Amino acid sequence: MAASEAYIQLKNKADERILDIINLYTPLKKAGINYVGMCPFHTEKTPSFKVYQNSNKAFYKCFGCDAGGSVFDFLMKMENLTFPECCERLKKYLNYVDEFQPKPPRVQEPVKTSHDYINPEYAKLTFANYDKNYFVQFLKKNFDETTVTDLINRFYIGTALNGATIFYIVDECEEIRTGQIIMYNPITGKRLKNLPISWIHAQPGFQNFQSKLCFFGQHQLEEFGKPIAIVESPKTAVIMTAVYPDYIWLASMGATQLQVSKFEPLKDREIILFPDYDAYKLWDTIMWKAIKLNYDVTIYASLFEIVNSMNEVEKQDYLKCDIADLYLSKLNF
Ligand SMILES: [Zn+2]
Repeated sequence: MAASEAYIQLKNKADERILDIINLYTPLKKAGINYVGMCPFHTEKTPSFKVYQNSNKAFYKCFGCDAGGSVFDFLMKMENLTFPECCERLKKYLNYVDEFQPKPPRVQEPVKTSHDYINPEYAKLTFANYDKNYFVQFLKKNFDETTVTDLINRFYIGTALNGATIFYIVDECEEIRTGQIIMYNPITGKRLKNLPISWIHAQPGFQNFQSKLCFFGQHQLEEFGKPIAIVESPKTAVIMTAVYPDYIWLASMGATQLQVSKFEPLKDREIILFPDYDAYKLWDTIMWKAIKLNYDVTIYASLFEIVNSMNEVEKQDYLKCDIADLYLSKLNF
């Protein structure tokens, strides 16, 4: 058997048994569709270490210390092994789990979806060059270093070659639906209007890609106990997470992209809509549609009321404003 073939066999088997192998180091328990445990790489009081497994991938990620990777990465880091040593160790463990642990139920074939996903390896290449990312530079003017790093990691923010910001849209299964590419002014944090908004799936190499939008930040729904706040733009969701972390902030990706058909993953959650000033009436209509379908949803009206009470001259500056603009302008609301 060729060496690479042997490696692929080992990798497939290790991916299939990733839960058993990591369980040898830290106990994992099921949480939603994934598994969580205490991170073996750093000290923590509440579990932020997650293991993801489905029929085509298996990996771990710690949201506390940012460790993450394949089952090989896990063992090499855990035991300080070289790659060949790690392969040997894995074979031993796999024999062990084969003998002593019951086989997990066969992973179900994925439901055939009508849309495509972005390869995470593609996204990983863009998780860099934050010193050239104009939106990140703007964040650093307003928040401390740790907060900014947390925001980058939480929302999977990437950098395009020209310094534009990539907001990956990741669903509750940690699958990347697409990414929105926006260029900002590093000082004001405003979008540069002469460079149009673009999408990852519209880039060369993504021919015939069937995209399906969900909420930006939807992967955070694994976190329970916090109300869901929905804004229009990813920038606003990121900023408001730093300002008001008691909510889980999602973005609809445009005023007209807020559609009741996308609410399904939000069932049984408390939802508050935070429309931009000019989208208030549209979102109010959507709220009533959602209420009729038994969603627990309300709308934040103060922004609309404050701007509406301004005189016509004053108002001109706030026609496109959102909750983050109000916060950053230090206006009382
Ligand atoms: Zn950790």
